[in-house]
Amino acid sequence: MNKIFDKIKNFLRKFFGLYIIDENKPVPFSQQVLVTGTILAVTCIAFTIMYLCSYSKSVISVNMDETSQTSTSSVTKEVSETEQVSKSESSDENSKEESKEESSNTEESEESMDTAAMLGNMTTVLKTTDDLHRGELILVNKELSCRYDGENAEPMADTKSGSYVLVDNNVSLAPDVTLKLNDMMDTFEAIYGENDVMVACGYRDYNTQAHLYFEEIDKKGKEEAEKSVAPPGYSEHQTGYTFDLDLNREGDAGINYYGDGIYSWINENCSDYGFIIRYVEGKDEITGFMYEPWHFRYVGVPHSIYMTKNNMVLEEYLDFLQKYTSNSPLYIKDDEGNEWLIYYVAESNDYETEIPVPQDKEYSISGDNYSGFIVTVSN
Ligand SMILES: [Zn+2]
Repeated sequence: MNKIFDKIKNFLRKFFGLYIIDENKPVPFSQQVLVTGTILAVTCIAFTIMYLCSYSKSVISVNMDETSQTSTSSVTKEVSETEQVSKSESSDENSKEESKEESSNTEESEESMDTAAMLGNMTTVLKTTDDLHRGELILVNKELSCRYDGENAEPMADTKSGSYVLVDNNVSLAPDVTLKLNDMMDTFEAIYGENDVMVACGYRDYNTQAHLYFEEIDKKGKEEAEKSVAPPGYSEHQTGYTFDLDLNREGDAGINYYGDGIYSWINENCSDYGFIIRYVEGKDEITGFMYEPWHFRYVGVPHSIYMTKNNMVLEEYLDFLQKYTSNSPLYIKDDEGNEWLIYYVAESNDYETEIPVPQDKEYSISGDNYSGFIVTVSN
């Protein structure tokens, strides 16, 4: 052990002239100053280098964070709305999210500034968990059932116009939908002089849907049957916002309406009246149904116009709307210059959700049947 210690002493003596270690030899003061100064200088340089290294590392990591935040927020904006759907988000977190989004995209920031200002003074109204399952924009598909079966439906025999026929006097729809259908079919008849379009089915109750479903399964098997008939409880026909068209031809069985020939006018212009072709070509993976040119769903203007122009089915459209808040609403203008502002409010954890609405403008609120509410403002 002593040998090792001696070796270290000799090494230090040779290298630094540290005679101070050897008690027997006096050390000149100038040499002590020189050695101590050198050690201090080397230590200072070493610390400076270490500090610079750690600083540049932290700068890089901050930049990475910013990049990941930006990309996260743009993903939130563009693709996934899961974060915004999250019911646990407080309004503070929402505004943070929005400010992040604004800083990440100047154009959107300017757009959101303008559209938010267009709403004017705001107040709030309350909507309940029950309301989430009501309204013209509720999504009903193979995963989402119709909670309030036929609540809106009323027989249309007395309120329909003469420009089309009903398969029987029991055909029912929500009264507003009947009026829009009257408008559309009156225009069609005025242009083409035909009144042979028939509403083959409007509102369908749970038992009728169950009967149809099991009848189809008996014919085709479950997998094939479910491509065209929804299980009971999960049919859009139970909402009162949906109908199937047919042509009034004697002796014909089944649906003969394909939206072709002169009838293509109906399918091409129905969005102006608030209707969409609910099951379009190429989207059966999303909707769960094959193309049905006879099956119309009322969602209301301007939603029908926007969805049709942008080739979105209802599932896609409702997902898309979730990135628009009252601080940054979606702005829609139609060919006639009518303007709308549309935004989404996630359902709160409580029974009631506070919905911000404009004080001085007309608006309507619809649940989406799964996560929140859509506010549609006429500007
Ligand atoms: Zn249908």
